[in-house]
Amino acid sequence: MNSVEVLSKLEEIVGKDFASNNHEDLFIYSQDPGVSHPRQVDYVVMPETVQEVQQIVRVANEKKIPIVPMGGGMTLSGLVIPVKGGIVLDMKRMNQILEVNKLSRYALLEAGVTTGQLLSFLNENHPDLQPPIPDAPPSVTVAGNLLIHGSGYLSQRYGDHGKMINGLEVVLPSGEVCKLGSCAVSNYWFGRGPIPDFIGLFTSAFGTMGVITKLSVELFPKPKFREIVFGLMEDPNDIPNILYKVTETGMAEDVLLGMQDKPDWMKGYVFLMTYITGDTKEDIDRQIKILKKIYRKNNARFMKAPERMKNIYLEKPIFASGAADYRKGGGFEYVGAFMPLEKIPEAYEKGAEVSRKYGIPPTLGSRLIGGTHTIVMFFSYSFNRADANDMKNARDALHETNKLALDLGGIPWKAELNGQKLTIDKMDHSYKKLLKTIRNILDPNGIMNPGNWEV
Ligand SMILES: Cc1cc2nc3c(=O)[nH]c(=O)nc-3n(C[C@H](O)[C@H](O)[C@H](O)COP(=O)(O)OP(=O)(O)OC[C@H]3O[C@@H](n4cnc5c(N)ncnc54)[C@H](O)[C@@H]3O)c2cc1C
Repeated sequence: MNSVEVLSKLEEIVGKDFASNNHEDLFIYSQDPGVSHPRQVDYVVMPETVQEVQQIVRVANEKKIPIVPMGGGMTLSGLVIPVKGGIVLDMKRMNQILEVNKLSRYALLEAGVTTGQLLSFLNENHPDLQPPIPDAPPSVTVAGNLLIHGSGYLSQRYGDHGKMINGLEVVLPSGEVCKLGSCAVSNYWFGRGPIPDFIGLFTSAFGTMGVITKLSVELFPKPKFREIVFGLMEDPNDIPNILYKVTETGMAEDVLLGMQDKPDWMKGYVFLMTYITGDTKEDIDRQIKILKKIYRKNNARFMKAPERMKNIYLEKPIFASGAADYRKGGGFEYVGAFMPLEKIPEAYEKGAEVSRKYGIPPTLGSRLIGGTHTIVMFFSYSFNRADANDMKNARDALHETNKLALDLGGIPWKAELNGQKLTIDKMDHSYKKLLKTIRNILDPNGIMNPGNWEV
């Protein structure tokens, strides 16, 4: 079948307006805002229903055409730019919020629902509930974020966003629809068990196992008051202990750290931000007092934030913005890495060394996930999009940082192709074998985002 025939099949499925192989339409899908090189895309298709997704997957399977599912396309690490050409399956039109179960606290969504859409829907219709939201632009999808083990302001208390998936509806590479979680047995999408839990197969899989068409996401009670408590530290070696003590109180909703050389006034300090919540002002004041004591005992200067600054951070953390556009040309990308807390001081020290080696002002940050069970590090690099050498420089810095994260016992998060390769090289042999076996069984024609997680 030639490309004209493939396009006409795709148009038959979704309608002429929603399938294309025009260069102008494909251009934007061949790249992302990060430093990855543009890559070829052959078709873009925008399905509206699960049946359409099934039919597209069947055509792709029959003709052995790669498919790359895409949400908001904002991971920055090239995950939705096809490695081997083929179809980008843009999920934007599948954007229905199907159900909010208030008592069981979950929302059932189509895969194209964005985080901004869900947040404003809940604010309007269920103001006592809040969803997990990353600090990413509101155009990113809930599915894209949960499926890559994203994190946000609820992660310290409740874990990473991958853990907040209660159920999935998936179009498998064969075109068959499969439900995972309690919805496989019940009409309620309340949880993952108690049956064998295969949801993990689809998280951080980067679209290699199937196309998610629906998902159930956990919702959480919204506190009446939220407050932020700032701290300043001079020695990164103090980080593990202070975080251990802060989380011991059980008070923190979110804990963020940052160390960056730009703007100049931030240089030389580690910033600590603890978010607390409560039902009354008195409750908040009591918690602030406790945190103040802990900060001071653990070599952190307690800072009462000016009202103006506090509002900005309560609305949306703006960690990297001072440094992100330092080089002008608007580009920044980061290596995220899940790491054990004890390695964080070394990660800050060595991460800053990598930045300086590549002439980029250090911009490092981290967020606690699920108490001190994991910490996600951000090693961020700015670059000028109009300067190919500058982009190469940032790419090299990112690669070196992936190696650093792995050497320190961490695992690169939402890793780009090179980061995936480094991770696979370190992976347990039997784990690799299992991954390959499962993938071959599910996707014998290798159509699902090939090139990613390739063992
Ligand atoms: C300024 C900025 C700040 C950010 N801050 C955060 C943050 O605080 N926390 C955080 O977690 N992330 C953050 N990110 C990273 C990223 O933008 C988010 O994680 C985002 O939610 C990813 O969602 P997306 O819809 O863009 O996913 P996409 O990039 O579209 O997709 C991500 C992966 O999931 C796969 N996928 C998407 N949809 C489907 C589907 N329906 N079926 C199967 N596979 C699918 C894709 O193939 C891809 O591999 C940030 C990014 C930027 C630019």
